[in-house]
Amino acid sequence: MNTNPLIPITPGPGLLLVLSAPSGAGKTTLAHRLTQEFQHANFSVSYTTREPRGPEQNGKDYHFVDPRLFLQMVNRGDFIEWAEVHDNFYGTARRSIDRVIASRGIAVFDIDVKGGLKIKSRFPDAVLVFILPPSMDELERRLRGRGTDKDETIHRRLLAARTEIEKGSESYDYLIINDALDRAFDELRAIVIAEQARRGRVDLSLLNLQPPDFSPETRSDEK
Ligand code: ADP
Ligand code: 5GP
Repeated sequence: MNTNPLIPITPGPGLLLVLSAPSGAGKTTLAHRLTQEFQHANFSVSYTTREPRGPEQNGKDYHFVDPRLFLQMVNRGDFIEWAEVHDNFYGTARRSIDRVIASRGIAVFDIDVKGGLKIKSRFPDAVLVFILPPSMDELERRLRGRGTDKDETIHRRLLAARTEIEKGSESYDYLIINDALDRAFDELRAIVIAEQARRGRVDLSLLNLQPPDFSPETRSDEK
């Protein structure tokens, strides 16, 4: 649902927006807010072999598949990128990208840094945004507060967080510190609005830029 009718739909070519972050930094929260506020923003639903967490729904949050099916998809070349993250497989299907490009909307990807860089190498206009926690202590508090992961999983995710932060802050286009959610979302909204106004993304076809026809046959005021 679009809760803010003032945010216009994007008329020009689509925007591929990749959000990455160490687990627990808040990218899923920000991505959902974005798809609620912007008409034409769609979440790219990845495939994963991990178990659903909390209220997650198949087909909405992820396509949950078993490792055998995932491997078949890899062998068929169904993924534009895939990776093993925290001992599970995750992948972005070619089909989801094609669909969003065709709709000319905003495609929001919640994927890791390696996946984001792969998307950028295939689609150089993709915009990469990295979400940072305000501190490592707060990251741990959020992971625990989410109440969906076992202690061992939380430890693994905290260990991986440092490497992900190093890679993301070196290579991404934008960095957002998710301290207060509203403030962080203001930054994300500003990035999306600015990127939509980039030359090449604005649809000029409605301007009707053809020069006016002044030929004598078409002028009624000629004597
Ligand atoms: P990620 O998708 O990056 O793993 P989530 O969006 O699931 O992270 O957020 C992790 C937890 O932190 C959730 O419980 C979420 O409600 C909470 N959270 C997200 N952003 C903030 C924030 N700015 N301040 C406090 N808690 C937050
Ligand atoms: P989670 O299990 O917390 O949902 O996700 C774990 C990590 O996998 C996150 O960093 C998330 O962004 C990443 N991820 C989710 N889907 C994909 C995907 O399709 N490709 C890649 N490369 N990473 C993904």
